[in-house]
Amino acid sequence: MPLAEIESNPIIAALPKADLHIHQEWSPRLDRVLARREGRTSYNWRHWAEQLMTETPPGMPRLQQLGRIFPAARDADAEAENFVAWIEDLLDEAAADGAILVEVRFGKEAVLQPDFMSLFREAERRVQARHPRLCAEAVFVFMLGRYDRDRLEQLLQGCIQAADEGLSGIDFLYEPYDTEADWTTAYHIAKRAAAVGLGITAHAGEFSTANIAAALCVPGLTRIGHATQAVRDPHLLELLATSGVTVECSLTCNVVLGAVASYTEHPVRQLVSGVAIALCTDDPVQICTTIGREYTVAHALGFSPAELLAVTRNAIKVAFTSPKRRNELLIELNQWGDSK
Ligand SMILES: [Zn+2]
Repeated sequence: MPLAEIESNPIIAALPKADLHIHQEWSPRLDRVLARREGRTSYNWRHWAEQLMTETPPGMPRLQQLGRIFPAARDADAEAENFVAWIEDLLDEAAADGAILVEVRFGKEAVLQPDFMSLFREAERRVQARHPRLCAEAVFVFMLGRYDRDRLEQLLQGCIQAADEGLSGIDFLYEPYDTEADWTTAYHIAKRAAAVGLGITAHAGEFSTANIAAALCVPGLTRIGHATQAVRDPHLLELLATSGVTVECSLTCNVVLGAVASYTEHPVRQLVSGVAIALCTDDPVQICTTIGREYTVAHALGFSPAELLAVTRNAIKVAFTSPKRRNELLIELNQWGDSK
């Protein structure tokens, strides 16, 4: 079921969607692009994900297997045309499913690449030629455990500079992830990033309740990735609700990595009774989903088209984008609702 084809519903397929939490997956994406060019098949992620679910214990052991396979090599990514092409692949896939807004999360040291934002906008322009409704934004992920203080400072300076060129937000990944981490560095970075207008989100609460309360104290934080385990603790649910943050909810990712045992056991209903949510794909190539599929799964779990439209509306309200783009997207959404 988690990886099965799900029959699409024409109303859900046509519904405007937003994906606020999608990682770059540069190598799986570039492999697809190169496979198309070379007329060969791309890496079989379905087989990989099925194997992951049968052979690896749920939770952290499965998460640690993400991003470990590189079907396309780093030197191919260094070519500007290839870099643009895999971002196009990501945006095209979402736009074909009805996405009108996609925030792409870039990791490693993307913001230190001098032409990073201009290449990102080039990919967006090319996709807009095919899907005029699509807006794309770029978010940088601080992988706190991987860098020393000096490198983190360089990355922050890169973000501050890229903010001028349109970078819209930052995200935090840290170690340890499933037990309480030290958030001092994240607070420091977030404060300075928020001061230049960058939106702030953080991963927390995917496999345990650890780090949710700490993440909610991040300066400028308006969204939180996963928070799936918050339902185990009424106090955390209350904290989430009063904080006003939006939970970036990735149903298939939570099932494939084993944060929950199945779609039907996913606490999305319980979450949505107290907090606003957005539906997201997280790592769609590796876990074999798309944003259209995530909305279809939510519909199968009982979310009506009107509720799903409200999910998109909320996502746009809390998206890391300019006021002008936000207004245009909300107008488009209202017009779509009126035409139904
Ligand atoms: Zn994520």
